[in-house]
Amino acid sequence: MRIRREIENFKPYILDEPKGVIFLNKNENPFDLPEELKSKLLDSMRKIPFNRYPDIVANPLREKLAEFLGLGVERIVVGNGSDDLIPYFIKIFEGDKVVISSPTFKMYEFFARLEGAEVLDIPLDEDFEIVDLEKHVDNVRVVFICSPNNPTGNLQRREKILKVLETGVPVVIDEAYHEFASENYLDLLDDFDNLIILRTFSKAFGLAGIRIGYAVANEEIISTILKIRPPFAMSSLSMKIGELMMDNYEIVKERVRFIIEERERIRNIFSDITYPSETNFLLMDVPAYDFLLERGIVVRKMDGRLSGKIRVTVGRREENDAFISALKDFLG
Ligand SMILES: *Cc1c(COP(=O)(O)O)cnc(C)c1O
Repeated sequence: MRIRREIENFKPYILDEPKGVIFLNKNENPFDLPEELKSKLLDSMRKIPFNRYPDIVANPLREKLAEFLGLGVERIVVGNGSDDLIPYFIKIFEGDKVVISSPTFKMYEFFARLEGAEVLDIPLDEDFEIVDLEKHVDNVRVVFICSPNNPTGNLQRREKILKVLETGVPVVIDEAYHEFASENYLDLLDDFDNLIILRTFSKAFGLAGIRIGYAVANEEIISTILKIRPPFAMSSLSMKIGELMMDNYEIVKERVRFIIEERERIRNIFSDITYPSETNFLLMDVPAYDFLLERGIVVRKMDGRLSGKIRVTVGRREENDAFISALKDFLG
């Protein structure tokens, strides 16, 4: 046997998950479901026949999302987390190159390499904005734009995104953090058949452990993905949890409000070393990773162009207080 060349150089997943007390490293929502909602949920799960396959294309969850977003069900596909859907955007289109703009979410490049596609990196500028992507659409299969961008926290500008969309090349806008942002680009779906909006229940919805993500695009893109996606991919249980969360969206909104308030509180204290953010995390220009770890606080250590910086997820109030106090000590 021989392992495929594309895969040989892949490293196993190692996330900086050292021992800690406070985890601010994965952009998770710091709040679990309220206990009352959880028991309601477990009651409704009891009614699900575990011996039966779920809906073959996850229709109950798609229909709920269609209602939630005010869009047709034929324009929505759901996945086990949004990561689960990324490979399909690379599989279904013609062309050789996958365009990314580093520093950004690592999974676009990961799946592009796995598919044997050529990765064209057009790095973000010094303000972390995309640069003339419309000039690099020759033989391009798909362009990934993360907005707001992980790990830099900023939104990409509408006028720059429009220029890329106007070329007609397929564009994925990853809006994993849109609930924390001042703008999103869902409305552009009306004007552009080449646009895919990718979203997740892992961040604002607080369901990272349940694994739900979705993409919205024109019907041809969605039906193509459904043709090649394994049947029965979504668990009956996770779909039920996603549906319940949409029924209780006011909880999500309230928590998003709290997280934004806390984000701005932290940013104001460290305003000279903290980048603006439209997400639930902050990029900070301070090499405090090891110092914080010593205090039991795990954040994300940045590398490459962002080395010397940390990415800190906004947590619960007391977690943020501990972080603030430790960082003040580091800064002396
Ligand atoms: C967290 C994150 C995701 C979501 O991943 P899931 O698989 O849905 O948990 C997707 N894109 C970006 C940019 C993220 O930061």
